[in-house]
Amino acid sequence: MTSVAVLGTGIMGAGMTRSLLREGHDVAVWNRSPEKAEPLADDGATVADSAAAAVAGADLVVTMLFDIEPVLSVMADVAEAWPSGAVWAQSSTVGVEGTRRVEAFARERGIDVLDAPVLGTKAPAENGKLVFLVSGPAALREKVAGPFDAMGTRTQWVSETLGDASKLKLAVNAWIGAMVNGVAQSVALARGLGLDPQQFLDAVEGQAVDSPYLQLKGGAMLSGDFTPSFDVDGVIKDTELIRDAMTEAGTATTLADAIADRLSAASAAGHGEDDMAAVVHAYGS
Ligand code: NAP
Repeated sequence: MTSVAVLGTGIMGAGMTRSLLREGHDVAVWNRSPEKAEPLADDGATVADSAAAAVAGADLVVTMLFDIEPVLSVMADVAEAWPSGAVWAQSSTVGVEGTRRVEAFARERGIDVLDAPVLGTKAPAENGKLVFLVSGPAALREKVAGPFDAMGTRTQWVSETLGDASKLKLAVNAWIGAMVNGVAQSVALARGLGLDPQQFLDAVEGQAVDSPYLQLKGGAMLSGDFTPSFDVDGVIKDTELIRDAMTEAGTATTLADAIADRLSAASAAGHGEDDMAAVVHAYGS
């Protein structure tokens, strides 16, 4: 049993907390808006009234916040009270430059940190089925293995160089952004040409070009159920991180630019807090 503090109990942090509790870990939680943390008390979490109180006595502190600014500001609040020997798993998606800032923050304060972004969305977080991408010192692996196994089905140790896991996370999310926009484009095209777009999903079903994700997001586009697993504004944030990384890497941003453009149009039309499948509204459908 590990004492874990989860800072940030939004869509992902709440699910990860429940997965930790199910596997018998002791979990303290804190969230800026307390109403998102309070229900976790029914699952057995200790709901703290400050981030510093949540980390007291923790062996592992997980940050699952929107982006780098809240990560650093919340960590600044807890750094003074950092429990001796505790490991910080930074799981929010903060990109390449964000992870450099995480590394500098931790180095200055002597905090052991792992770059530990996750793959998977709301349901995998709730069901302990995330994939952890992790980079950082191998010496910390043993300390985090139990809780990571509780929250995920697999941990991919990317390298010992902090930041490599966040780089890989951006490559994966670039693919996800392209996929969901590709599905939206075909749904809108089929509909715009006067077809029932369900026929697009039926045509590819079971073929090499099909995927569970295509059927999931295409199904949401057709049903109009945009209950967020990952919202449009979150994908816009990630797409900015991806474009910054592409510029640094010297690779073409053409597709990412178009994706950002369509996501921004969906957000401007009032879909920022809807699931990313709502980007279909920005394709004229
Ligand atoms: P979310 O539901 O929007 O939660 C965001 C969290 O960040 C909330 O706890 C929010 O607190 C907190 N926050 C935002 N600004 C803050 C600030 N200035 N100070 C303190 N706390 C602040 O988002 P999510 O989907 O759980 O995503 C969390 C992270 O995981 C993001 O980095 C996201 O990119 C990443 N991620 C998401 C998914 C996914 O599918 N959803 C998958 C993998 C990774 P309040 O409740 O007070 O607003």
